[in-house]
Amino acid sequence: MRPLTSLDLIRLAYDPELMRHCGERMSRLMADHLATCQRAEGPVQHWVTPDLNERQALGYLENRQARSGESEASEGDLVEQFQELVQVSLRQAQRLHHPRCVGHQVPASVPLAGLFDALTALTNQVQGVYEMGPWSVAVERAVLAKMGETLGFRAGEFGSLVTSGGSLANLTALLAARDHCFEGIWQRGNMAHVESVEQLGNSSQCGNGGTTPAPVLVVNADAHYCIERAAGVMGMGTDNVLRVPVDSDRRMSVAALESTLNDLRRRGVPVIAVVAVAGTTAVGAFDPIHAIADVCRRFGVWLHVDAAHGGALCFSRRHRHWVDGLHLADSVVVDAHKMMFVPAVCAMLFYRNRAHRFSAFHQSAPYLFDPSAPEMAEYDNAVVTFECTKRASALGLWGIWSLFGPDFFEAMIDGVIDVARELYEKLVAADFIETFQPPSCNIVVFRAVPPSLREANAEVVDRHQLWLRRRLLEQGAAYLTQTRIDGRIYLRATIMNPLTDSAALDCILRSLREESGQHAADWAGQCHA
Ligand SMILES: *Cc1c(COP(=O)(O)O)cnc(C)c1O
Repeated sequence: MRPLTSLDLIRLAYDPELMRHCGERMSRLMADHLATCQRAEGPVQHWVTPDLNERQALGYLENRQARSGESEASEGDLVEQFQELVQVSLRQAQRLHHPRCVGHQVPASVPLAGLFDALTALTNQVQGVYEMGPWSVAVERAVLAKMGETLGFRAGEFGSLVTSGGSLANLTALLAARDHCFEGIWQRGNMAHVESVEQLGNSSQCGNGGTTPAPVLVVNADAHYCIERAAGVMGMGTDNVLRVPVDSDRRMSVAALESTLNDLRRRGVPVIAVVAVAGTTAVGAFDPIHAIADVCRRFGVWLHVDAAHGGALCFSRRHRHWVDGLHLADSVVVDAHKMMFVPAVCAMLFYRNRAHRFSAFHQSAPYLFDPSAPEMAEYDNAVVTFECTKRASALGLWGIWSLFGPDFFEAMIDGVIDVARELYEKLVAADFIETFQPPSCNIVVFRAVPPSLREANAEVVDRHQLWLRRRLLEQGAAYLTQTRIDGRIYLRATIMNPLTDSAALDCILRSLREESGQHAADWAGQCHA
């Protein structure tokens, strides 16, 4: 056979028929994958250590090199090889659509949303400027308009954007809050306020004369780590993130917030923002937004609500009371790749006042923006997002919203919360389990404490949770996560698959009981030795 020329190789790679045949194989394999996951066939995960996985992945790269140039690769061979790569990728993946996969806040995504993502990737729509992705920009704006109204913002008054993840969305909102507190800080930098606070301060909080204390963020004690990281990135210093204590339900204490703000005001410390959380990562707690918004209004402080996990509860008539008042916040972040069940990543940021949408990033890029059509800037995402080449990530959300309607999100949210409550009831009934508190949403926190460990010291019980979690993961019996509450380690289940059912929950409990009992006996033996 004649070796392939470079041109042959390129033609082959771009051959629409190759795409058609591979695509047909792939759609069949993906549908089979979904079906076996949903029937709970096989483990939640084929556990393979990272080094073995990496060696196998490298093996495919090296095989290809050995083959290339030897002989003409036929289209048929390529389709077979493609199939093998797809199969290994499906096999080695964590199986989020398996009913016993109840770990992180990552959904068993709606399958059709994934197909829309494939379209985005194939056509490679990006969204720095409107003309580079005209339909995907339109789709994103349509989704944001509907979502903003569902959250309670007033049409025409709020600003919004989609960005790559809740962490980046939170940073973007806090940059806007910082700009609001210290006009000109984008250009002059953080240190300028130390020398001449009068020039910078546009807020009554800044400008106490003399030396100005460093500005702070006042946050829920259980805020996601990305908030502290944002403070680091903004150059404020992570020491200047003040954590407001939470109450027994792990919601921000409004009385403690008020006394913190009073104290800061007395000492002339500028507050860039109060950060409340709707759906904390650790236990899924919801801060009382109305009361917090009231305090923030009285103190003239920007209220940011990190509703990455919980914001979508606005779709549910039964659960939306948890997020009442979100429309009073200055900025709100909602991750669609969590409780709206689309593939990662698609995060939305809302500003109550649309004028703030340009506040986070100030610089202009003349090669992007066309001065002959200034009205287009409204549609050019690069002015409002950190990203320049920005993935069009809302097509799947728009697609499933268009196909199934907003009631679908309500059904999904109500469904996973019902399953979480059922899990909680089963855990309460199990004699070897200590529960933490009834779940507000779909996050359930508990510890396995079998009889042999009842008298054991706290470290031993903590280590038992870690061991148990890893054991179930490596067996493929269930995927759970761990969290730390008041210094102690808990197991954590997040129901992100609406098809997780009673049978799956029973199965998880059975594995927990068997593994826990066996191993705890060993622990107890060690302790008494
Ligand atoms: C998931 C989450 C984040 C982080 O968002 P990413 O999309 O993972 O970057 C931040 N805050 C809360 C409350 C979250 O649940």
